[in-house]
Amino acid sequence: MSNVSLRWRMLAETSALVALVAVGTLLFGAAGTILAGILAVVVVIFLSLRLTRQFTDLTEDVIRTTSIDRLHRLDPSGPAELKRLARAVNRLVARVDSDISKESRERIRLASILDLMREGVVVVDDQGVIESANPAAGEMLGSIGYVEPGMQLTSLTNHPDVINVVTRSIETEKQVASEIELFDNQRTLMAVSTPFPRPDSSAVRALLLLTDLTDIRRLDTTRREFVSNASHELRTPLAGIRASAETLQSGAIDDGDGRAKFLNMIREDVDRMDRLISEMLELSRLESGESLLVFENVDPETLVATAVKQFSAVAAESELDLKVSLPDDLPSVYVDADKIDHVFTNLISNAIKWTPAGGSIQIKGWVDDGTVWFSVADTGLGIEPEHLPHVFERFFKTDAARSQPGTGLGLSIARHIVDAHGGVMSATSTLGEGSEFAFTVSTVRS
Ligand code: ADP
Repeated sequence: MSNVSLRWRMLAETSALVALVAVGTLLFGAAGTILAGILAVVVVIFLSLRLTRQFTDLTEDVIRTTSIDRLHRLDPSGPAELKRLARAVNRLVARVDSDISKESRERIRLASILDLMREGVVVVDDQGVIESANPAAGEMLGSIGYVEPGMQLTSLTNHPDVINVVTRSIETEKQVASEIELFDNQRTLMAVSTPFPRPDSSAVRALLLLTDLTDIRRLDTTRREFVSNASHELRTPLAGIRASAETLQSGAIDDGDGRAKFLNMIREDVDRMDRLISEMLELSRLESGESLLVFENVDPETLVATAVKQFSAVAAESELDLKVSLPDDLPSVYVDADKIDHVFTNLISNAIKWTPAGGSIQIKGWVDDGTVWFSVADTGLGIEPEHLPHVFERFFKTDAARSQPGTGLGLSIARHIVDAHGGVMSATSTLGEGSEFAFTVSTVRS
């Protein structure tokens, strides 16, 4: 009976009741009609109540499935219409469920892409309210806390240029781009605001894309400074060569002593240019990683002795005490011996240059936490505290050094060599007392 459609069931039940009343009338006359009628009414009430309960159960099931438990499915029982309804609702719920899962998977995917993006992304409505923003945007604009949707753009940043880019793009409904300097966190950003309509209204919102140009701009500045410094440094010996040539041309060539003197000056300027160009090329090779290092296990004592040997005569001539202090148990170091010799050469020649006669230069070595340290300390003029952080920069020379020979590239090259060995290099100095340059190298193949 449960599989029978409601229409047939009602027809069968009504016919059965009519038959019941007819049989009652035939068998028992008026009393039979009344009794059969009462029985029929009771049966009708019972059947209606059962049907109402089935509907109520189904309704509650639907409510549970759609609003409380998305995994719950309707029980397809009762009359055929209710069964079909239950099955249809089950199919509908399954489809909506799969659509919701697909959409939430897509949302999670988009949210993780936005979270991982290096570019800052902010969606702002025409009232200046943030609809969404990724962590990079907050970080770039220097926001202290997490950027929540619903916040005003002005609470994320009060930089007028950023706000201006967004409002102009919403007002004009055109893309607006601007390069912005954020002085509080020393950043250069490219802000591009693209308007896009809301699907549900005529209002326009803006998609603000922020790209960090700080490193590119810094590189640009460094490159420009390098070109300008290199040209300046090359111009100085060139000017010397021109002056010597002109002096020779204007008569000095006929004077034996003058000729030798100016030719010698030309030779020195050419050497200076040659040194400068070699150092610039070496620096460029180190910076681009083209300068390949040949690593080997080297005895530190041999390494230091080779470097010191080159300077013992010059040190003695300059009345400087050149001392070496290495513990006996210093382990072998894993280095490119020629390159580390270049580092020692630069540090010792600087120390000799900046230490007045009577002073001393000490080369030390020690082990700290599995790393070998070397240092070159002098009792020379020292470096002003404001200049000390810049000594490793390309072409940097202190005021006193400007009139002295030297390219200003030596320490920069030395630091790049130590970097390429995976080590660190540091400088300490006290004006009037001396300076110490230290660096690390590794003892084992890393
Ligand atoms: P340079 O070719 O001019 O020696 P460096 O890069 O080796 O170039 O050194 C940069 C600058 O650092 C020098 O011009 C000098 O002003 C300063 N400097 C380096 N070493 C010393 C030192 N031991 N004592 C004092 N000043 C130093």
